[in-house]
Amino acid sequence: MHDSQTPPMPRRLLAQVRDVMAGSDAAAERLDKVVAIIADEMAAEVCSVYVRRAGDLLELFATRGLKSSAVHITRLRIGEGLIGNIAAHARPLALAEAQDHPSFAFRPETGEEIYHSLMGVPVLRGGRVIGVVAVQNRTRRNYSDEEIEALQIVAMVLAEVVAGGELISRDELLPGDGNALLPLRLEGMRFNSGIGSGIAVLHRHQMGFKQLIAENPDQERQRLRRAFADMHGALDALLETTEIAGAGEPRDVLEAYRMIAKDSGWLGRIDEAVAGGLTAEAAVKKVHINIQARMSRISDPYLRDRVHDMEDLANRLLHHLSGGETNAATEELPQDVVLVARTLGPVELLDYDPARLRGLVLEEGTPTSHAAIVARALDIPVIGRAKGVLGIVEQGDPIIVDGDNAQIFIRPGEEVRQKIQESIKARDRRKAGYARIRDLPAVTLDGKQVSININAGLLVDMQHLKDSGADGIGLYRTEIPFMVRADFPGVEEQRRLYAKVLDHAAAKPVVFRTLDVGGEKILPYWGHYEEENPAMGWRAIRISIDRPSLLRQQLRALIRAASGGELRVMFPMITEMGEFDAARSLLDMEMKREEEQGGVLPEKLKVGATLEVPALVFQLPALLEVVDFISIGSNDLFQFMFACDRGNPRISERYDILSPFALSFLRSVLDQCRAADIPVSLCGEAAGRPLEAMALIGMGFDNISLTPPAVGPVKTMVRSLNAGPLGEYMETLYDLKRQNVREKLKSYAIDHGVMI
Ligand code: PEP
Ligand code: MG
Repeated sequence: MHDSQTPPMPRRLLAQVRDVMAGSDAAAERLDKVVAIIADEMAAEVCSVYVRRAGDLLELFATRGLKSSAVHITRLRIGEGLIGNIAAHARPLALAEAQDHPSFAFRPETGEEIYHSLMGVPVLRGGRVIGVVAVQNRTRRNYSDEEIEALQIVAMVLAEVVAGGELISRDELLPGDGNALLPLRLEGMRFNSGIGSGIAVLHRHQMGFKQLIAENPDQERQRLRRAFADMHGALDALLETTEIAGAGEPRDVLEAYRMIAKDSGWLGRIDEAVAGGLTAEAAVKKVHINIQARMSRISDPYLRDRVHDMEDLANRLLHHLSGGETNAATEELPQDVVLVARTLGPVELLDYDPARLRGLVLEEGTPTSHAAIVARALDIPVIGRAKGVLGIVEQGDPIIVDGDNAQIFIRPGEEVRQKIQESIKARDRRKAGYARIRDLPAVTLDGKQVSININAGLLVDMQHLKDSGADGIGLYRTEIPFMVRADFPGVEEQRRLYAKVLDHAAAKPVVFRTLDVGGEKILPYWGHYEEENPAMGWRAIRISIDRPSLLRQQLRALIRAASGGELRVMFPMITEMGEFDAARSLLDMEMKREEEQGGVLPEKLKVGATLEVPALVFQLPALLEVVDFISIGSNDLFQFMFACDRGNPRISERYDILSPFALSFLRSVLDQCRAADIPVSLCGEAAGRPLEAMALIGMGFDNISLTPPAVGPVKTMVRSLNAGPLGEYMETLYDLKRQNVREKLKSYAIDHGVMI
């Protein structure tokens, strides 16, 4: 990409397009003129514009080079042919040999078999594809990035023409068609649990603008500077006044975001585009298109989320350039809002009144996207990856977000609505019940004490420690704060964070797991390379051993944060003893260093390992000689044991931990730990499901760590259980020859009044 060079943009082409737009032609003539200009200026034999019609069809609306009789006749489905492919993926395509592409579809009426190369870009409006513009050449031609970019800018203009309402009715531009008005259920991915119901508000991403080429570049520059300053003022004000911004990691998310906004590189690139003759608005868009194009080749979801943050900022800047016209967020909102967006930046989410937000639905996104983190802190149910949702939901539709079951109901019928209302009420009742037992002990009917801890990773989780009445933090995932920052936190910054965690925990124990980054958990400021099997790749302790200064800094911060109190440290992904030894000796080195420097050492130091690689189970005798405790990370342990990707929704539920062999495997680990007198806990998701937790307690576990919302349900189960008789019953299960004892355990619970 050539951001830094001026101006690769074919100015002549854009100036001509501007003239057409300024003229008084009808929309159809404008299209005809624009395709002719593009074809001439790009030396292409063909230029065509397709417009999206109802029923998800792309109709040829204007062409130079294809048979004119094909106009309004040739229609392609989204996804059909190369044009349909561009629309389906909403991204440019440039092919020197179009007919080799698997999506190539031959349409005899157009006469296009003689063209070898094709380059096309989507026409986008509000994040939705409303058309495609493409050029074709007879020869094999490699289209340059500048040409693709120029066509993208023209596509921005075409979006205005199409949306003008002259070519097709505006209704056709609305997502969804006739049958979409039926009630619908759509599945996605659970980014945050909970149930909410409200009125759909479609988040509007983009603002249109008319002018492309600036009359007076200096004036444009001044406008840009002013808008930039306004944007910062508004961001600062928002960060100051927003409740969520008070403390903790959401604050860090927002700060990181503000840092991107201040990135002088970004402004510099926009500036250059203005110097090249574009209006400030067109320049903002051009730079964003470049970023998008560059990032579209990156598959890493974390980095892709950063593109969305950039998009949020670009829209914000456009908003200030337009003099701060209202956007969807500041318009009159319904009392109960379910926000629907393709993606969302964290600050965009805060533009909406949190008191009215009942749910968030994203067409894309990842559970680690900034908006998801902020939404969790606000306790809003979130469904992500709801494929096609923007094509189905219309502004004002009633919509229900069922975060617990990763589904949404659009325009639900009365029956569904009632059922969900009942669920919401039942949920509220249950919550009230959990609150009542908050301060009661987690003890079984027959007197067995169970330590229920929570898994945490953000400072806001510390509030959950208080609210849920859990006994401590069984797993503090230190990588999460690292992931939401804009750069690597230094020792002092880490110390402050860990000290805050310990402070919030009061006297309750906290187990800090050292950095478990790598694999899918990417630090944005760290070099990253693609791995074929990231879960089994260069991650966690493997990175820490190869980059010891990283771990040493973290350990130093932890030692200091303990400030003479107790410190519990756990090393993740230990696969062989040598790794534990290496990590432990780094810890010893740091203890020694601290002592030499006159620092205060923790009064008690407990060092443990996460048991999450099956190979380590075979080394338990050696491990148990050197650790102070063990925590079973059942998420990874069973992902590796079953050879089953925990993040792949197609298979992640396929194998069951409630099978005889898995249970007897866990029991053997437990027995070995007990014989060695080493405390053992289980901190994977399984511990948070009442039935699984029941089985664990029945087999003998007395310490589990789980996601905060599960504390209430699991404690309720514990307090209704007789552990002794369940243990005896389970003796009959371990040696069963066939899989799955889930049903048996469920029946046991029901028969014995265990509240699962
Ligand atoms: C686990 O693997 O079970 C675990 C608790 O760690 P994480 O989910 O962070 O990998
Ligand atoms: Mg793990």
